[in-house]
Amino acid sequence: MTLRRVLALCAFGFSAQVTFSADAPTASSAEIRKQVTTAVVEILPRLEPLYKDFHTHPELSLREEKTSQRVADELEQIGFKVTRHVGGHGVVGVLSNGAGPTVLVRTDLDALPVTEQTGASYASKVQVTDEKGNTVGVMHACGHDMHMTAFLGTARILHALKEKWHGTLVMIGQPAEERVLGAKAMLDDGLFTRFPTPDYCVALHCAGDLPAGSVGITDGYALANVDSVDIVIRGVSGHGAWPHRTKDPVVLAAQTVLALQTIVSRETDPTQPAVVTVGSIHGGTKHNIIPDEVRLQLTLRSYSDEVRQHTKEAIQRITSGLTEAAGIPKDRYPTVTFSESTPATYNSPELTARLGRVFKNWFGEDRMFSTKPIMGAEDFSLYGRTEHKIPICIFWLGTVAPERIQEYQQTGKPLPALHSSQYLPMLEPTLKTGITVMTAAVLDLLGPTIR
Ligand code: ZN
Ligand code: ZN
Repeated sequence: MTLRRVLALCAFGFSAQVTFSADAPTASSAEIRKQVTTAVVEILPRLEPLYKDFHTHPELSLREEKTSQRVADELEQIGFKVTRHVGGHGVVGVLSNGAGPTVLVRTDLDALPVTEQTGASYASKVQVTDEKGNTVGVMHACGHDMHMTAFLGTARILHALKEKWHGTLVMIGQPAEERVLGAKAMLDDGLFTRFPTPDYCVALHCAGDLPAGSVGITDGYALANVDSVDIVIRGVSGHGAWPHRTKDPVVLAAQTVLALQTIVSRETDPTQPAVVTVGSIHGGTKHNIIPDEVRLQLTLRSYSDEVRQHTKEAIQRITSGLTEAAGIPKDRYPTVTFSESTPATYNSPELTARLGRVFKNWFGEDRMFSTKPIMGAEDFSLYGRTEHKIPICIFWLGTVAPERIQEYQQTGKPLPALHSSQYLPMLEPTLKTGITVMTAAVLDLLGPTIR
């Protein structure tokens, strides 16, 4: 999950918003729940060390070599037909089990350039040199280690319960989620053509504000469109004492930053969410020198395709319009570059309602939250945006000790957010729930109705 601004929302506020209607559980659903619950307890002693191993040995996006190998080896050992190196370090495991629908389950593989400060006995001490030559710590600060472990637990249980479902299970390990590159790389490498095309795609993601043992689900837009923008504003440099003989890019950059704020406040329908954040501004070297250029770095967030497109066009228009107004020579006009983008994640309402009913019946109302959309991003969105128009749903897995949430509510002591150096899921209840919830989702899509 690419979460630059994370979850200022409080999970417990959501309990009143649960809207999924409950069906009476059937006998077969009670039986299958019992089987799954027993199986989860049985495999936990094997999975906890696996989780700790993933946690201790994180790898950055596009470098997930050993992680990917481990996931592939585990899937193969369970009984999946495994293909490696799909879109880089991507892994595809297929389990064919007769006629029926095809369900794709995704885990992400990568970690972040964060130096861990959780104090856990299995904390990562990994340091690497990044692309810019800097030494950086590496940490699973977004919980992808938990995703992988729950994913492999799910694979194991669904393989063991093969007589309970029919169809095809495609389980994929996706690289480079944090840089929103991996889903596209796997799709470009034939994920939906070389392997069975899914009827549904599902994934889970750790939540830094939901209690361990609970799940959350968001109907419709769940995560945002994200675009990164680099703007270079150019002027004509000179002595700080003779501004009239220069074109000052610092003043122009300041005007630009303020004018960009009007895209959201004055140009966007107030009912449509949008964010324009200038996160970085750099220019100049000394008090008395007017520099040649100033560089800005922005992140843009939105949900609808229209707002996204309008925001991008408005940035171009405002940046060049102010440059023209400042009388900058034509050969010194600004450049605006868009990069690291991904479209909004839209949870299929039908699939979300179906899984919501399953989770509510399985976990009960007090462990099932209807969560609000957030402005973080996920390239999981891309699996629902191909020509196949596959319904997708990503849901949230609670990871926080309930007493920490209580403390937060009473004292305001902040909870470590995803991507924080102090973020650490509460292992056992999170893992148990992660395996159970994903197994329940797949069983409902491929097997007996367990609502
Ligand atoms: Zn993330
Ligand atoms: Zn993530």
